[in-house]
Parts: sequence; C-alpha cells; structure tokens
Amino acid sequence: MVLSPSQRAKRIVQSEIRVMSVECERIKGINLAQGICDTPVPEVVREGARSAMERGINSYTRAEGLTDLRRAVAEKMRRFNGLDCDPETEVIIHSGSTGAFYASCLALLNPGDEVILFEPFYGYHLNTLTAVEVKPVFVTLQAPDWSFHPQDLEAVVTPRTRAIMINSPANPSGKVFTRQELEWLADFAQRHDLFVFTDEIYEYFIYEGSHISPATLPGMRERTITISGYSKTFSITGWRIGYTICDRKWAQSIAYFHDLIYVCAPAPLQTGVAEGIIKLPESFYRGITKEYLRKRDLLCNTLSEIGLTPSVPAGAYYVLADASILAGKTSKEKSMTLLRETGVATVAGSAFYQAGGGERLIRFCFAKSDEELREACRRLQMLPEKLGKVAMSHRG
Ligand code: PLP
Repeated sequence: MVLSPSQRAKRIVQSEIRVMSVECERIKGINLAQGICDTPVPEVVREGARSAMERGINSYTRAEGLTDLRRAVAEKMRRFNGLDCDPETEVIIHSGSTGAFYASCLALLNPGDEVILFEPFYGYHLNTLTAVEVKPVFVTLQAPDWSFHPQDLEAVVTPRTRAIMINSPANPSGKVFTRQELEWLADFAQRHDLFVFTDEIYEYFIYEGSHISPATLPGMRERTITISGYSKTFSITGWRIGYTICDRKWAQSIAYFHDLIYVCAPAPLQTGVAEGIIKLPESFYRGITKEYLRKRDLLCNTLSEIGLTPSVPAGAYYVLADASILAGKTSKEKSMTLLRETGVATVAGSAFYQAGGGERLIRFCFAKSDEELREACRRLQMLPEKLGKVAMSHRG
C-alpha cells in the first residue's frame, strides 16, 4: 500500500502532556502535568446549563453563538477588559479558545505566511500554525522575568510576516506582559502592518501586575484578534466554550470557518456560561486570584525547598522550574526521574521550545484541588532524601 498520512499530519507531533498523563495514570501518580482544573464549577453555571437542556435549548445555534452569550461576553469585555464591541457583529462564540484560534488562522492567514511566536510557547499555538501551513518564527523570552529584546523582534520580520501571537498571562512561563511591553508591541505591529492574535484565557489568573487587552491600546482595535474563553475561569475545560472579539471586517469569515469545523459550541453549555457571566459577582473573580495565589505559593515554596528552583509566575497556573538536580540528559528524562522518584508528573521543558531548548526546565501545573496539591507537595518533599539515596547507592 502506498497510502500515507498527509504532509501536514507528519509535521504535527503529539503533545508531550498527554504522553506524560498516560504514564502518570499507569503508575497511579499525581498529575501536575496537565492543566485540567479540578476545582468546582460554579453552581449558577451548572444550573444554567441543566435548566437550558430541560427548556429544550439543545439544537444547533447560529455559528456566531447564542445572542444571550454574545451580549454577556460583550458586556464583560466592556466592564473587565475596557473594550467596547458590538455583540451582533464583533463577538463570535467558539468551541473553546482553541477553536477560536484555529478558525481565526484559517480566516486570516495564508500558507507560507510567517507568524512571530514567543518561546517558551503553548504547543497548541505552534501546532495550529503548522496545521494551517504557516511558518512560526520564534523570539525567545529571557528568564527570570521572561522579557524580550525589541531588536530580536525587528530581526525576524520579513515581507512574509503577517502576525504576532501574544499570550498574557502566558502558558507556560506565567509572564504577564507589562503596559510598556504591550505598547512597544502595538507600535511594532502598526509599523509592520501585522495582525495581533492575543490569547487571554488566563485573564483572571493574575498575581502580580494587571491584565491589559492589546486591543484597547491606541491604534490596535482593528488589527487585534482577541481570543479567550471560560474553560479556566469556570473550570469547564470539557465544555468547550470560547470566543473571539474582532473588527466586523474579519468576524464573518472567522464565523464561517468555525461553522465549517465545529458548527457551533454546545447550545445548553453556552447558556450556562451566559448565566455565569451575568450572575456571578465581582467577588467570584477576586476569589480565583486569592485561591490560585495560595496554590502558587504552596507549590513554589516546596519547589524552592527541594532545590527545583521555580520561576515564580505572575499569572496563569503553571510553574517552570530548574530541574538541573534531577538525573537525565534531557528534560524528558528529568521529568521521568521525578515521576519515578516521587510519583509526581510534570511536563518536559522541551515541549515549549524549538529543538534543543528548555532542557533544564520542567513545568508543573497547580490548578488542582488543595488536597491533591498538598499530597503532591508532600511527595515532592521526599525528593532530597531519595536523591541522597540514589547518590549514595551510586557511590557504592
Ligand atoms: N490557550 C492557552 C494558553 C492554554 O494554556 C489553554 C489550555 O491549556 C488553552 C488556550 C485552551 O483553552 P480552551 O479550553 O478554551 O480551548
């Protein structure tokens, strides 16, 4: 047989995160690899979806999404992000922010275009660009504050550069881009006439600094495609509710592509999310910050104590830690060492870098119940002793 998968399929690699989760399951470990929030779904959101099903909201919706949800999102964009948008023509509801980014790429980019991606990057951003035959061009963020050099961006621009991707707060670094950085990027995008894709899925998970939507900066409204969703905020990663906010010039074709691939986001779940946005008080969102800040500190303090020096994140819910003390030549081997010694699963840093990068790093996720996170920290605290034993057994 001479049949084979497409060239495109050959360029997509399976996420390391899934591989690690399978191994963790096999040894009954604690999975700090994957960003599945297992905190409870707010009651109004669950109840909203349940009652929508019972009221018969179970059919296809318009590709752009239910009017109630589009209005609720537009109102939230005004209140929280400081961005005015028309719910009829500038808000599209998607199957997760993942669907939002995929449909936006299909609508706005051509094969052979180049898109600037900061590394460490989120793997789905890279793979989505690869799937639509766009060339990612990398600019490396520098620890400890994950800053970038403007000259590095200027150096990678070519006549084919069409867009830049911003993810703030970022997965995996936890970077929250400052106003000054975003203003520089806004000026850069305008000088080179680029689209800006901005993934703001962690907008409510900020511990230091504040969330600024690039679309609100002067001159940026028309060229910015704002992508976000409720997977993380309402702990509903399996519901697949996200959205795009953009100028009406782009919205129609983004909605067409969403229709073509996903038809619509699940109807009753759209209603549940709309209820949550309308009814949850400000204190709910402040509560997220407080709760996750506590989780961040618990994990980071533990990591510092055991010599896996963390880069303490300003936002999102991941920690990149220096894994130099762990046995293994690559970050994959180091991550496996940690799983073997403590039963705690992480993701190899190499999953967030081009080939050769991130080999000293591993990523932890702290979107876990307090109980599970405490147990993970308890196991991690045994690491120095285990490593001591390993070192001693090597000596003889
Ligand atoms: N964007 C980033 C940066 C993420 O880390 C994730 C999930 O881990 C997503 C998007 C996925 O969001 P959704 O569930 O809305 O597709």
